Amino acid sequence: MSLRIGHAIDAHRLASGRPLMLGGVEVPSERGLAGHSDGDAAAHALCDACLGAAGLGTMGDRFPSGDERWRGVAGREFLARVARLLEEGGARLLSAQVALVCSEPRLAAHLQAMGEAMSVALGVPAGTVTVTVTSGDGLDAAGRGEGITASAVALLELRS
Ligand code: MG
Repeated sequence: MSLRIGHAIDAHRLASGRPLMLGGVEVPSERGLAGHSDGDAAAHALCDACLGAAGLGTMGDRFPSGDERWRGVAGREFLARVARLLEEGGARLLSAQVALVCSEPRLAAHLQAMGEAMSVALGVPAGTVTVTVTSGDGLDAAGRGEGITASAVALLELRS
């Protein structure tokens, strides 16, 4: 057995007329994340952190945005697919944290639900995935409310 850490970042713009899907849950908001899929930056960052730690490539390799198969696909679905890849690759997710930069809407009341939804999608025990948020203090595009940035760290155990 060996332990591996993965770290990844994703960001999507906020746009009017879309539901805000983040961390596998819908958050009440006048704007949602734009993207070829549902734009769930938290799920995407977590997928990439898991794939990277396991040496299984990237979201871009596995689910290219130019491929119509992945149009509108939910973050939870990507997490479920990553969970199968981890299993096939002899990897097990022990712990993960997603840190969000988001000035609006306020996400504090939704963080626990996001962690639970992403844990369920990955097929790991509740509490395995946790989520935090910072407002970004107006300092960058996410801090100014133009989008949402997600950074994820994952700790995996590899059978080998
Ligand atoms: Mg993405």
